[in-house]
Amino acid sequence: MIKHSIALTRQSQGLWFIVNKGRLYMTEDGLLPQGRLGSLAIAVDPEQICWLGEYQQQPCYLVVDHDQVTDDSVWHSARNLLNQDEMLFQLAARALQVALFLQTHRFCGQCGSAMHLVNWELAALCNKCGHRCYPRIAPCVLVGISRPGQILLARSTRHKAGFFSILAGFVESAETLEQAAVREVKEEVGVKISHLRYMGSQPWPFPHSLMTGFTANYQGGDIVCQPNEIAEAAWFDLTKLPEVPPVETLSGKIIRYLQQKNSR
Ligand SMILES: [Zn+2]
Repeated sequence: MIKHSIALTRQSQGLWFIVNKGRLYMTEDGLLPQGRLGSLAIAVDPEQICWLGEYQQQPCYLVVDHDQVTDDSVWHSARNLLNQDEMLFQLAARALQVALFLQTHRFCGQCGSAMHLVNWELAALCNKCGHRCYPRIAPCVLVGISRPGQILLARSTRHKAGFFSILAGFVESAETLEQAAVREVKEEVGVKISHLRYMGSQPWPFPHSLMTGFTANYQGGDIVCQPNEIAEAAWFDLTKLPEVPPVETLSGKIIRYLQQKNSR
C-alpha cells in the first residue's frame, strides 16, 4: 500500500529512490542516496513523494523527477542493484513501476479528462466517467528446456553475440501461463515441450514485467528460429555453457538449477 501524502519535511530521513525516465539516481559509489530530504542533490517537492516500504529499518521513498537530465552520469539502471541485494532491487522495481504509472495515467484513456489518485489504494480515477486504472503489470514466461545433458538456449536479436538465455515471451490476453510457455517456445524456436514445472517469479521493472519461470522437457521438433525475435538458438552441453544471465535473475537461476540437476 502506498501512502500518497506523507508529512515530510526537509529534515525527514530515508532511503531515496529518485526516478527519471526509468532510471535511478545513484551516488558516485553506485548507491542510492540516503539521509535528509534537504540534503538531496535535486530539487524535491515534499508533496510529490510516495512511500515505498522499509529497508533495514529505514523508510524508503519514491521521488519522481520530471526535470530534464543534465548530468547523465548519475542516472543508472536498476539492474545495477541486482547484485547488491534482492530486497533493494524489489523496492527499486516498485519505485520504477509506480513512477511510470504516475507519468502515464495523468489523463483518462476513455474520455480524455484529467485523472486523480485514489487516496486509499494505488489507482488513478477519472471523476468524469468513472474509469479506474491500476499500475500495469505484464506477465512474461521464461522456459528452461532440457534434454539429457543439454539445454536449449537462444540469443535474442536484442542481445550481443555470444550471450544466450532461455526462451521468454509475454502472456497474451486470456491465456494461462502454461499455454503461453508452450506457444512461445513453438513460435520462437519451433520445438514441442512437455512436463512444465513452475520455478518461481521475479518483478522485472523494464518497464513493468512480472517474470514467471518454468522448466520443461524437450518433446520433439527441430530448431527453427523466428527471424524477428531470435538471432540464433542451439542445444548446449550443461557442462559447457556460453555467457548466460547472472544468477540474480530468474533465467540465470533456472539455468543453474538445470546444471545442478544434470550433475547429480
Ligand atoms: Zn474518463
